[in-house]
Amino acid sequence: MNKRAFLKLSSALVAAPVVSPLLAWASGEKPKNWAGNLEYGTDRLYPAHSLERVQEFVRKQTKLKVLGTRHCFNDIADSTQSLLSLKPMDEVVALDPRAHAVTVDAGMTYGQLCPYLARRGFALHNLASLPHISVAGACSTATHGSGERNGNLATAVSALEIVNAAGDLVKLSREGDGESFRGAVVGLGALGVITRITLDIQPTFTMRQYVYEDLPLSELKDHFDAIESSAYSVSLFTDWQKQRLNEVWIKSRVERGQAFDAQPEFFGAKRATRNLHPIAELSAESCTEQMGVSGPWYERLPHFRMGFTPSAGKELQSEYFVPRPQALPAILAVERLRDQVTPHLMISEIRTIAADRLWMSPCYRQPCVAIHFAWKQDWPAVRALLPVIERELAPFNARPHWGKLFTMSPSHLRSLYERLPDFTRLSRTYDPQGKFRNAFLDRNVFSG
Ligand SMILES: Cc1cc2nc3c(=O)[nH]c(=O)nc-3n(C[C@H](O)[C@H](O)[C@H](O)COP(=O)(O)OP(=O)(O)OC[C@H]3O[C@@H](n4cnc5c(N)ncnc54)[C@H](O)[C@@H]3O)c2cc1C
Repeated sequence: MNKRAFLKLSSALVAAPVVSPLLAWASGEKPKNWAGNLEYGTDRLYPAHSLERVQEFVRKQTKLKVLGTRHCFNDIADSTQSLLSLKPMDEVVALDPRAHAVTVDAGMTYGQLCPYLARRGFALHNLASLPHISVAGACSTATHGSGERNGNLATAVSALEIVNAAGDLVKLSREGDGESFRGAVVGLGALGVITRITLDIQPTFTMRQYVYEDLPLSELKDHFDAIESSAYSVSLFTDWQKQRLNEVWIKSRVERGQAFDAQPEFFGAKRATRNLHPIAELSAESCTEQMGVSGPWYERLPHFRMGFTPSAGKELQSEYFVPRPQALPAILAVERLRDQVTPHLMISEIRTIAADRLWMSPCYRQPCVAIHFAWKQDWPAVRALLPVIERELAPFNARPHWGKLFTMSPSHLRSLYERLPDFTRLSRTYDPQGKFRNAFLDRNVFSG
């Protein structure tokens, strides 16, 4: 189902709230994910616009999955039976300045939330490369930005409201539920339907973004730590060719003691003289402002602007997390594969993420570097290449991004998550019969 058909269906339902859920189904056209590489396994998509509707729907179904904004590249959100969308539930529920917390409906995107927060003097600690994604979907897969001291986006979650398989509303909080809360936050959609999320907020801040071109690989080898810690958030983009990194994106907070001194050269890289796209040949129109122009945090932390297509559009993505102390050998292991990788690549990105305590986060108890690949949309070629990359990164216990494409065996994947047995036990308390499980979860998390 294309976006227009989806919106038409959603607005028809909002206009006629008493319509039978069954009428909302079966448009005949199966929806696809954002990249268009995956057609979901059913056309039965139900947009819910209230908690009661969510509960009623969940009680009636034997199997279902929730769709966020459909930005995952694999089948983690897929269902062969029924899909539930919370897109119509996208309001801010409460802003609590004293507690530094905002509670939102689960259908809300960062693109909707951020300007709301900024207008009221608040900010989130970090954002992904794009604001188009739903808060619930992003946190469920441990979506991240960059920054040595910045945990992934799920680390900002302080409370969740979840409809479990019985249709009951369960409330969990960081303060009140300790370990089971930490198990539920990166929940991979396995525990139930998140209907509300509370996030930590902080006073709003201003940022500047500079881009440098052509960082010599030799400088990266000698100064990796200094480069990564030079600002609040640092992203390295590379096509792995010519012993250099094509672009370095430096996002700094404009505050006393934080300012990044934007010299014309940065470890041998040259400051760009115009805004750039991470893929230098593409127009920078879709990208956030660079060249040191000050702006609000939510218009500098992402690489891409709301209202434009993020990244390249027709693409595939993979990403692997390795422990931060092994960042350099892992990067060099991929660099050695350059002549196999580059022909299928649009661009790679290297980011750092702080450690957290969330059971299914790739950064559980370890700071990480994430090596990302935006691929040309040629799945047979990418599928043949991923095992080669995974083999090279295996000595570093590389963990794949939950929402992107990977080929490693489920048993190997499971061995990388020490809290996985706890997670499956926790999930079963919410969903004893596997109502929220799909092929992805059965294969990668629950089997074995
Ligand atoms: C162009 C592009 C750029 C990206 N950049 C980044 C990046 O910078 N960093 C990064 O880490 N990732 C990035 N991603 C990946 C993306 O952030 C993740 O795939 C994220 O999960 C997308 O959120 P979504 O709402 O689209 O999720 P969906 O794909 O819709 O769903 C993801 C999972 O969340 C579950 N889910 C969604 N909503 C709910 C709910 N209300 N209750 C329970 N479960 C729910 C789904 O069932 C599914 O399991 C990028 C993806 C794209 C397409």
